[in-house]
Amino acid sequence: MDSRLSAFGFKLWVLAFGLILSSSLLLAQTPPDLPAVTVRGQTYTPRSILSRNMGTDEDQTTAFTPHKIAGNVYYVGTRTLSSFLITTPAGHILINSTYERNVRTIEKSVTQLGFKFSDIKILLGTHAHGDHQEGDALVKEMTGAQVMAMREDIPALEAIRPGGKSHPIDRTLRDGEDVTLGGTMLVAHLTAGHTRGCTTWTMKTQDGGKDLNVVFACSYRSPATVTPNIESEFNRTFTVIRSFPCDVPLGDHPAQYDMAAKFARMKPGAPNPFIDPANCWLEAEIQEAMLRAQLTMQQSAKP
Ligand SMILES: [Zn+2]
Repeated sequence: MDSRLSAFGFKLWVLAFGLILSSSLLLAQTPPDLPAVTVRGQTYTPRSILSRNMGTDEDQTTAFTPHKIAGNVYYVGTRTLSSFLITTPAGHILINSTYERNVRTIEKSVTQLGFKFSDIKILLGTHAHGDHQEGDALVKEMTGAQVMAMREDIPALEAIRPGGKSHPIDRTLRDGEDVTLGGTMLVAHLTAGHTRGCTTWTMKTQDGGKDLNVVFACSYRSPATVTPNIESEFNRTFTVIRSFPCDVPLGDHPAQYDMAAKFARMKPGAPNPFIDPANCWLEAEIQEAMLRAQLTMQQSAKP
């Protein structure tokens, strides 16, 4: 009796020890979600930013209600991946094709707004990652649009080859060059860090008799490891962007400019919620705080 009890006790002990060991191994495998930074009363971590940006698979592929933002600028993307349509009398400009599987969804949104997808003459992008520019080849195939990209992002773009298709590049842009169509001029600003050729686009539009400066921001999120090169790219980027005139801040993930909440506030006769100069550099503030905290963490981890 005694020996059976103690055998049972031993088994329990082995089981408990095994549980502790496996859970501590699991903890060791999942790196902590650090650093945490607080900007304007809200706390952010690397994982919270990533989940805010990307949402679920369904969020990435489901169209958000296509809508006018201001003047000739429209939203035609999904819930978490931005695509912007800029309409002109000479045809349209599309910024960000997103994933190739989203191109038909974007086409539908363009049509829903009363425009023709085939009237897209120029395709631009914010940066050479698949969630923003994988669909470029398909958009070109469907519209014949000229694809233009920042020189520093071209090697990374050429590596994006869905189904083996080569990535189209019709014009290579340098920092500060403009892209003009039907009276609308977009300026390409090199804002490197997230990718080597991360591009922030600026343009002017008119809305309700007012001149507005629109900023299509690139992602300013730093990779997990900040190299000295990436640090110096970001140092330049965070200085340069604050010199752009800005009334309407936009971003390549809608959460970067609080799109859903602003869209919900749109009402006829009410002020346009997308005109939001007070929050033009909020996303940059968050990402810069995160970068500085990451650098501090990296420094203290050094032996
Ligand atoms: Zn990215």
